[in-house]
Amino acid sequence: MAQQYYHTVTFGCQMNERDTETIAGMCEEMGYTNVDSVEDSDLIIINTCCVRESAENRTLGHIGNLKRLKDKNPDLVIAVCGCMVQQEQAAETLLKRAPHLDILFGTHNLHQLPKLVAHVKETGKSVIDVWQSEGEIVEHLPTRREGKLKAFVTIMYGCNNFCTYCIVPYVRGRERSRKTEDIVAEVTRLAEAGFLEVTLLGQNVNSYGKDLPGEVDFADLLLAVNDVPGIERIRFTTSHPRDLSDKMILAVAQGSKICEHFHLPVQAGSNRILTKMNRGYTREYYLERAAKVRELAPGAAISTDLIVGFPGEREEDFADTLDLVQKVEFDAAYTFLYSPRSGTPAAEMQEQLSAEVKKDRLRRLMDLQNEISLRSNQKLLGKVVEVLVEGESKTDKDKLSGRTRTNELVVFPGPKSLQGKLVPVKIVEAGTWTLVGELVSFQA
Ligand code: SF4
Repeated sequence: MAQQYYHTVTFGCQMNERDTETIAGMCEEMGYTNVDSVEDSDLIIINTCCVRESAENRTLGHIGNLKRLKDKNPDLVIAVCGCMVQQEQAAETLLKRAPHLDILFGTHNLHQLPKLVAHVKETGKSVIDVWQSEGEIVEHLPTRREGKLKAFVTIMYGCNNFCTYCIVPYVRGRERSRKTEDIVAEVTRLAEAGFLEVTLLGQNVNSYGKDLPGEVDFADLLLAVNDVPGIERIRFTTSHPRDLSDKMILAVAQGSKICEHFHLPVQAGSNRILTKMNRGYTREYYLERAAKVRELAPGAAISTDLIVGFPGEREEDFADTLDLVQKVEFDAAYTFLYSPRSGTPAAEMQEQLSAEVKKDRLRRLMDLQNEISLRSNQKLLGKVVEVLVEGESKTDKDKLSGRTRTNELVVFPGPKSLQGKLVPVKIVEAGTWTLVGELVSFQA
């Protein structure tokens, strides 16, 4: 039989990227080989995101473009999965709109892809299979990893928080934690395959273990992963501020391989808006947790996410956000304009703000944060930091780039042979987003 090829397209977050690695692993187990172009594919899988409507629109455009390939090659199998498909009635609507699709499956039954592909090949008919509830976590699925140095490891699925702007709990279900031994076994396999860095993934890693029998929590998991020989760096995302315990901060300070970087999305600095967002904490609580990080893990970086222009946000609420940003002095912040996501309570709220107001506030917030990020980077001038070399710099092919333990991007001249190594680099220039360094002599 002639060689068959598969191609994957991923929209959205790191969880989706990790799921696509499993999809790729299953495709290879079915005998398909990866190919870069859709034109040469026999099986195309699109892993979708629905967090923003703009991502959905891009996905729909992509799906529409595939029709001409299906017209040319009726044996081509096109599958769509992920969060967009998991929404109520979305699969049926999508198939009506794009009848050239063969398989639509949801976030809870990824592992069924081989069965669904076999079904389509046997019957020639499209199939929709979207589970409404989560089911058991399926372990030991095959995986094709992207890269050889850094890997994502999903430690839990779903979210219990129901922030009013967010669709995730509706499409990813409730929190389910993987067993510690399964996670440690996966990290051990990655270490044996030569990976140096793992990022532990979950919508809210700080509530890891709450659904497991016994007393295990995220701090225990971090320290268990810290003991895996061969792994040099451990990162984690995302930490919900409400569930950030002292024990977890101390684990970061204590574990020699755990990177001192907390990504703690605050979203807003006004108590009125935090309540409307259903975030489950106040600005005072957040400021206290950030101070605790500075106290128990000195030198740790704190980054955040901020949403500007949430429904009903007044100028004084926005001033509270600016004030909180000034007080915490985030090392980095990802700033977003609020955009209504249908299917969430916030999309139905009164007092949606105009685009002009939102854009103006976003600009003012970014100006402030850029100043703070620059100041934070300037503190590293003259210091020697450990950098994990990822490869040549995207902006200057003659230089190498990598990240510090606290997640700053560093660019510096050096031989390509250093790729995949941890090297000491002295910081000689500091910009808002990038540091420039010089290699310090060391024993490889
Ligand atoms: S914590 Fe809130 S923002 Fe994060 S995934 Fe859960 S509902 Fe969405």
